[in-house]
Parts: sequence; structure tokens; C-alpha cells
Amino acid sequence: MSTLRFQALKETLSREPIHIDESERRSAIFGENVFDQNTMLQYLTKDAYNSVIDAIDHGSKIDRKVADQISSAMKDWALSKGVTHYTHWFQPLTGATAEKHDAFFETIGNGRAIEKFGGGQLVQQEPDASSFPNGGIRNTFEARGYTAWDPTSPAFIYGTTLCIPTVFVSYTGEALDYKTPLLRALQAVDGAATAVAKYFDKNVKKVNASLGWEQEYFLIDSALAASRPDLVMTGRTLLGHSPAKGQQLDDHYFGSIPVRALAFMMDLEMECMRLGIPVKTRHNEVAPNQFELAPIYEETNLAVDHNSLLMDVMDKVGARHNFKVLLHEKPFAGVNGSGKHNNWSLGTNTGVNLLSPGKTPMSNLQFLTFFINTIKAIYEHEELMRAGIASASNDHRLGANEAPPAIISVFIGDQLSAVLKELEGVTDGKLSPQEKTDLKLNVVGKIPEILLDNTDRNRTSPFAFTGNKFEFRAVGSTANCANPMTILNTIVAKQLQEFKKEVDTLIDEKDLKKDEAIFNVLREYIKQSKDILFEGNGYGQEWEEEAAQRGLSNNKTTPDALKAKVSDKSIKLFDEMGVMSEIETKARYEIEVEEYVMRIQIEGRVLGDIARNHVIPTAIRYQNILINNVTGLKDLYGDDYKKYAGEQLEIIEAISKHIHKVNVGVTTMINERKKANKLEDIEQKAHEYCYKVKPLFDEIRYSCDKMELMVEDELWPLTKYRELLFTR
Ligand code: ADP
Ligand code: MG
Repeated sequence: MSTLRFQALKETLSREPIHIDESERRSAIFGENVFDQNTMLQYLTKDAYNSVIDAIDHGSKIDRKVADQISSAMKDWALSKGVTHYTHWFQPLTGATAEKHDAFFETIGNGRAIEKFGGGQLVQQEPDASSFPNGGIRNTFEARGYTAWDPTSPAFIYGTTLCIPTVFVSYTGEALDYKTPLLRALQAVDGAATAVAKYFDKNVKKVNASLGWEQEYFLIDSALAASRPDLVMTGRTLLGHSPAKGQQLDDHYFGSIPVRALAFMMDLEMECMRLGIPVKTRHNEVAPNQFELAPIYEETNLAVDHNSLLMDVMDKVGARHNFKVLLHEKPFAGVNGSGKHNNWSLGTNTGVNLLSPGKTPMSNLQFLTFFINTIKAIYEHEELMRAGIASASNDHRLGANEAPPAIISVFIGDQLSAVLKELEGVTDGKLSPQEKTDLKLNVVGKIPEILLDNTDRNRTSPFAFTGNKFEFRAVGSTANCANPMTILNTIVAKQLQEFKKEVDTLIDEKDLKKDEAIFNVLREYIKQSKDILFEGNGYGQEWEEEAAQRGLSNNKTTPDALKAKVSDKSIKLFDEMGVMSEIETKARYEIEVEEYVMRIQIEGRVLGDIARNHVIPTAIRYQNILINNVTGLKDLYGDDYKKYAGEQLEIIEAISKHIHKVNVGVTTMINERKKANKLEDIEQKAHEYCYKVKPLFDEIRYSCDKMELMVEDELWPLTKYRELLFTR
């Protein structure tokens, strides 16, 4: 075994789990490090407090004087907790969170100093932002961007730093981050959904979109991970033969959690509690060393911040436990990948979940309204939904036999399908009293009962209704949830606006009663959007064929999928809904395409390096051992040697063939990269990387993995899959 590999294994096997003190009640420490409403009540004057609450509830502006009070209170609170620095915390389009720490400390002359944090520093900052992706926005407009306080997500303390959630925008107001368009989309869906909810309850003043994400991840010992240049550089293994035992036995899923992993989880959960992230569920996942963590759902903006924060905290807590946390969608070939289900719903300020059936026929009609409008929205914008989850890393997962396909469809279960079928038959125009009663009693009235025993689950669907929420399952584990959530909430907002218009027209012009009008519009929606509903096996080849016939898109790669973000339809949608201007949409597209190219480029370089510098030299060394052996046999047996050296000769030959293939593969890949790099057009470049460069990875890998099986284990330099996945 190579020294590095041996050391890594030895280190891993000698680890002791870290003892975590869990004696503190979770409820007692929950939100301890958050400047939440309770803390605000203690630290703020009544006026300042009301001003923040008003900003949260109604998006009102906080004036400068009040901001000064708030910042001063935040500082006092933070100092009382040993905090020394503050930072504007934001989510640039690089996918990670960004922070730049400044000390509260300020000198005031005469050798004296104080801790200071003014309203200005709270409200707005100018990070040195030139190195964040901007898709040409800053070149075209202003050279600088700034971060601005988002009072709807509370400030928190991490380590010794006060973190202030902020948006990140250019001086001309274009969004340069994930949060800004999300906030606009949430505002749009609030407006549109509130207007529709008023059909059913005049008291509804606000609708919040909720998000409950489920984060999947792998835990690999840090020494083992460090021994793999591919894991270090790209977050996934670029080669490695499948172990004899994979996940076939299913003995890991929901099995008892390994001791060291459990210690990590407890530690992580305690950190989350202090940060106000309401984590609730932890368990093993399907693959060995794969796990999942899920919180109680929250308002979407907060939930997105919490997920972004969590991914960062996981990394830090992981390091404490000598784990590398792998968030990549597909760290190991042949082993299940990781996703991040996004559970989504709409809730009113009156405490009603609009995607949950109620007790009365009217509340069920409300449920059906939001349910069917969501389906229609997905139908109209399925290609955009697919674009919202596209990334180089998620490409490995979508369409592979473990994850939702690249085709977007909606699963609702047999029973709700039957309800929709009934509704499709509703009379055009005015309904007879008999029909109304019938609908009330037999169709709409039966929904709660139906859902109670809704054990209908279809794990192969990318977008499934699960009783009182939709679950977007195709989101990747590394994703910033803001991206798919911005799209989902925008398309639903747009759809609800149209619904409202159509219903009002029927009421005004056709003299229909409100519920008649609603039934009429819903009937048409069901007819129009039927093709998006699919209850069968999403993994099957038959579905691909059927979906094609239905006219649904099936964009298997990121460069193809992303195009839907800049279709005329999408540009218009984002613009009309006030979510993104055309410039913003196009800039974002460019950034994502560029990111794709960079990821594949890095993977290509790393793979070429490992293949040439690790695999080939090792194979040659082993081949030399065999050649020595054959020469020895020849010395011993003379012309008869072939009788004894047959196997050796075969391996020598096979190794030569594979070395040749790897070499040619790497050379071809480098040439293809060079050609692609010369292309000016980023879209063309991405296309070349996707269809010319990336396919060579598989060829190179195939021969490397074959050699892994041939070459003496002692010599093999790279930690093997069985060691990465089964050492604890
Ligand atoms: P699963 O079987 O997929 O694990 P769970 O019932 O455990 O389903 O819920 C999964 C996630 O759904 C949790 O994060 C939970 O908070 C979230 N969830 C539940 N209700 C809602 C809702 N109304 N809106 C958004 N997310 C929700
Ligand atoms: Mg789920």
C-alpha cells in the first residue's frame, strides 16, 4: 500500500469519537445566538422594535435614526456574548456564502479606542466585490456593488462574529446574489396568492411561501479525503472501481448511525440550535456513509439563509470531527448521489396552509384552487423548472437510476387524480343546484378523507404532492435553494394572477357566482395541463418516450437545460413579475454557463493529472515487476517459460493497452479543451465542454479503473472506494 494511503487508513482507524455534551436542552439554547424578536424586545426601544417588525411584515423602510438605535443595540448584545467583529453576510452567485469581517474596534484619537457599530455600517457596506461573478453587469454599468441589510432574516453570531444577512446589488440596482430575486419572487407570490385567498377569506392579509429542505451528504474521514486529489479539488471522485459490496444490501438505510458520525451530528445540531436553525430529523441514507438532515420548515427566505448557513457550519463542524463533508451530488460513481428535496407550500397570516385541505367544502375549494394552479404553473414552465436545478454536478444525478429524471412532471396520487377527473366534467357556465350539491358532497367534500389515507408515494417523481405540500425532489445537494425557489414562486405568482383575472372576468361578464367561476376556470386548467401529470415510473425508458410524445422537455445536460432561463418566455416572465430585469436574467445565465465550463475544466485538469501522474506510473511499476518475473522465468525455463508466464504476459499486455488508452484519452481531452477555450462565445464553449471534453472522462476512467483491478494493491496510490466508503 502506498505510504499516503496507508497513513490515511491508519489515522482513520485510530480516531476516537469526540464526546458531545448534549445535556443542555435544545429548547433552552434554541436561537441563543440570534438577534431574534425576543432578543429585540429586550434590547430595542418599542419604536425601533415596531419598525423592524413592520419591515419584516410589510417590507417598509427603516429610517436612519432607528437604524442607529438598532445597530447600537445589536452591538451591545453581541459584545455581551464576546463578539469582536461584524460582517455583512451574503450569497454571491459563486454558490458559497461570503463574508468580510470588520472589527467593532475604532480609534477616537488621543490613543483611545471604543467599540463602535453605527446604523450606516448596519444598513450598507461596500465589499471589495470585483472578484464575485456578475455576468458583465458591473462592466456595463457600475464598477462597484454594495450589500444592504435584509431585516427579514435576523442577524446571528457565528464564532466571534456578528453576521448580518444582506442582499448584494450593483450600484445601478441589479441583483448580484441569490437573495435579491428570491425576495422579489416572494413578494410577487405574496401579492398574487393573497388576492386569490381573499376569494375564500377576506381576512387574509399576507401569504408566506414556506420551505422545508432536506439536506443529504456524505461523511468521509478527512485523512482519507485528503489522500484523494480529486475529492480535494472537485468534491467528487473522478475515478475508482466500485467495491465488491455497494449498497445492494440496503443495510445502511435507516440503520443505526455510526458512532463518529453520530457525534458529528449531535455537535452540528447543537450549533444549529444556537443559530436558530430548527433541525429535527437525522438519519442514514441509502449509500454507505451517506446521511440526511432536515429542519422544521420556515418562511422561504429564512429557510434559504438557514440552508446556506448550514452548509458552511457543516464544513466547520466536520473539520472538528476529522470529517470532510461531501455535499456534491455524485461523489462516487455507482453509489447513490445526494439531493436536497425542497418541500414547498403557501401559508396565510391567518394560519392556513393553502395546500392543505380543510374541514369545509369552501376550504377544500381553496385547496383545489392553489393545488391546480401550481400544477398549471409547472406545466407552463416545466423547462424553466428544469433549468433551475441545472448544474455540472447535478447532471450526474438527474436521469441516473436513483434520482428524478431530467423530465419535469407532477405526481399527485391516484385519489387526487380521480378528483381532477371529476372536476373535468363540470358543466361549462352556470352550474345547476344539483350539480353544486354534488360537487360539494361527493367531490370537494371527500378530499380530507382521501388525503388521510394518502399513502401514495412515488419516489421517482421530480415534483410530488405529499399531502399538504409539494416536494421538489430534483434539487441538487450543493444547490442554493434560492434558485429553484425563485423560479417556483415566480411561476406560481404569475399563474395565480392569471387565474384571478379569468375568474373575475367570468364573474363580471358572464354573471357567474364566485364558486361557479372558480370551478369553470379550474376545469379548463385541468384540461390544459394534464400532460404534466405522471403517476408511473419516472426512471423507465417508456416514460422518456411518452414524455417526448406529450411534448415535455428532456434536457439532460446543463448547457441544454439552462437555455430555458433566457427564452423570450422566461425573460418576459421575470420582467413582468418584477423578479429580474432582462439584463439580470441574461447576466445570471452567463454566470451559470461560465460556472459550468469552469467546473468541467477543473475536473478535466485534475483527471488528466491523476491519470498521468498517479495511475500510469503505478501501472508501469507493476508492469516492471511482472517483466522481471517473466525474465526470471525465461532464465529458469528457457524456451519453455511461456508455460509458466502465460498470465503474467497477458497482464503485461493488458496494462500496455490501458496505458495507451489513458494516454490517448488525456491527450485528446487536452486538445479538445484547447479548442473549446479558443471559442469566444460562452454558450458554444459550454457545448464543447459538455459534448467533446466530458465524454472523454468516461473513457479515461474506464481504463484507469481496469488497471486498479490489475495492479498490486500495495502499489496503488489512491485510496480505494471500499476504504472511503466503509472505513469508520
Ligand atoms: P419525508 O417523508 O419526505 O421525509 P416529512 O413529513 O418528514 O417528509 O417532511 C419533510 C420536510 O417537509 C420537512 O423538512 C418538513 O419541515 C417539511 N414540511 C412539512 N410541512 C411543510 C409545509 N407546509 N411547507 C414546507 N415544508 C413543509
Ligand atoms: Mg422528502
